Amino acid sequence: MFKTMKRIIRWAGKYQKRLWLGAVFSFFSSFMTAVPTMTAAYALDQAIQAYWRNSRIENTLIWQSLWIIVFSIAFNFLFSYLKAVLQESIGYEVASGQRIHLGDILKRVPLGYFSRNNVGEILTGVTTELSTLELQGMKMVDVIINGYAKFIAILLCFIWFSPAAAFISAAGVILSALALSGISKNSERTAGVTHKSMEAMSSAAIEYIRGLPIVKSFGQEGVSIERFHEASRALKDIHIKIEKGYTPFNCLHLFALKLASMGIVLVCAWQTLQGQISLAYFLMFVLFSFVLFGSVETINEASHTLGVIDSAMDKLESLENVKYIDEDGSDIRPDSCDIVFENVSFGYEAHSTVLKDLNFTIPQNTTTAIVGPSGSGKSTLCNLIARFYDVNSGKITLGGRDLREFTCDSLLKNISMVFQNVYLFRDTIRNNIKFGSPDATEAEIVAAAKAACCHDFIMALPQGYDTIVGESGSSLSGGEKQRISIARAMLKNAPIVILDEATASIDPENEHLIQEAISALTHGKTIIIIAHRLATIEKADQILVIDGGTVAQKGTHEELLRQEGTYRKFIAIREKAEGWRI
Ligand code: ADP
Repeated sequence: MFKTMKRIIRWAGKYQKRLWLGAVFSFFSSFMTAVPTMTAAYALDQAIQAYWRNSRIENTLIWQSLWIIVFSIAFNFLFSYLKAVLQESIGYEVASGQRIHLGDILKRVPLGYFSRNNVGEILTGVTTELSTLELQGMKMVDVIINGYAKFIAILLCFIWFSPAAAFISAAGVILSALALSGISKNSERTAGVTHKSMEAMSSAAIEYIRGLPIVKSFGQEGVSIERFHEASRALKDIHIKIEKGYTPFNCLHLFALKLASMGIVLVCAWQTLQGQISLAYFLMFVLFSFVLFGSVETINEASHTLGVIDSAMDKLESLENVKYIDEDGSDIRPDSCDIVFENVSFGYEAHSTVLKDLNFTIPQNTTTAIVGPSGSGKSTLCNLIARFYDVNSGKITLGGRDLREFTCDSLLKNISMVFQNVYLFRDTIRNNIKFGSPDATEAEIVAAAKAACCHDFIMALPQGYDTIVGESGSSLSGGEKQRISIARAMLKNAPIVILDEATASIDPENEHLIQEAISALTHGKTIIIIAHRLATIEKADQILVIDGGTVAQKGTHEELLRQEGTYRKFIAIREKAEGWRI
């Protein structure tokens, strides 16, 4: 329990001073809660003594007691307020910084990280686990420090009036602390299982929601809903199991404190009968015996939560310690845009190779069309140029410099990518276009949109450039989304363009506009295009035919047509397909 407390305090980082100062105020605020009772007991004691002496109670005693009580209540409020001001926002401030930091980390890890670790796991890390820490971390530190501070404040009074009662209360709290550490250990052990189950639940929910259109269109619920139900049941079972494991320790904790309360009353009653303490102080002890452990009792919930927080912190640490792909990279401006593949081999998994021993050059300001059957490795090759993954062997150079020498940012400054599956953010069309160029002016945005043939349809929308695009661009047609993504790439104006030509059936009007947009985007650039249209392929300066992860053929359209091989067959099929469409 205290180990986790230390971890949370360390997590508070630069806010630690505020945390400790808050704890000091917490202690004094607790001390002030004991003062009115002690003052009342003292005044009552004096009154009883005066009664036995047959004398009057002095007015000054009444006024002094009254002022002490009023001031202690006022100071109690003031110290609690100061503590709240210092401590309450710390969790939110640290978590917000950490969330942004995690976002940066995820941007710099290889894309393979996301296929190795399921999305649910990453999502729960950034949302649930960080929220646990954000909402509960500081609160728990406060409950524990405040709980024990209150106890120590009252214990100091006990030592003064009755060391025996003080000893009994200390013994009760030590016994309860043992039970609390049992609760905390139990929670630490089970929190990992809970998190796994929550991750499974998130993954199942994501999968279910993503698959809903298919579920609806086929009128079937299928495996996705079963997985969702299964994950919900598993989570419920785990929660019940954890509660059961927690109960015996909780009982021991509460029993130790109740026993100590009874012990205090009995010892003080005996001391009163022996004439060692007065009746007024006996009453004070009886009152204290009820409230003394109140703050310690609530620590049981905190120690359970601390176990969960400990496991959440483990998870966040593992997310933070993931290796950046460009850890050793530096800011480089390449001398040219020549891209060279030298003996490049790559596989997503250690045991499989997707690309084998590739050797070719993409000269600056030329167009290279990549063709080949589906699954042959065309997209993988493009992903390697953008350094979404690192090669397993060989090297890729840009302007003579190995891609592994670049930071991702400095490399990607040189590259615009247009994917087949366009992703638009749930944001305005303007912000979607200026995504890669945050400093672009309105005139530049409109110019890019015009060149990418999307200005007219944007202006026809009720809010024009301020229209919010639905999630994943659902309110726009496929062709419109494609053109917005081309406008985004145009605005970035990078010297290298990697383009995946759309194969989805787009209506002829859109196809014509997309082609126009692409020619505007690619004018005077180094272009690598995963090509499907004959017109694109024929015009390319160089064609790479990828088959089974290797470069099966390389040359211009005319050169390759003269050779026996994959290309000729490929062209024959394309001619037939495009002929059919006409
Ligand atoms: P193409 O673009 O030519 O259709 P890809 O480069 O997409 O081919 O895929 C090449 C091979 O790599 C395929 O066998 C595919 O299953 C595999 N592959 C693609 N992406 C991944 C990935 N993220 N993780 C594991 N395997 C992948």
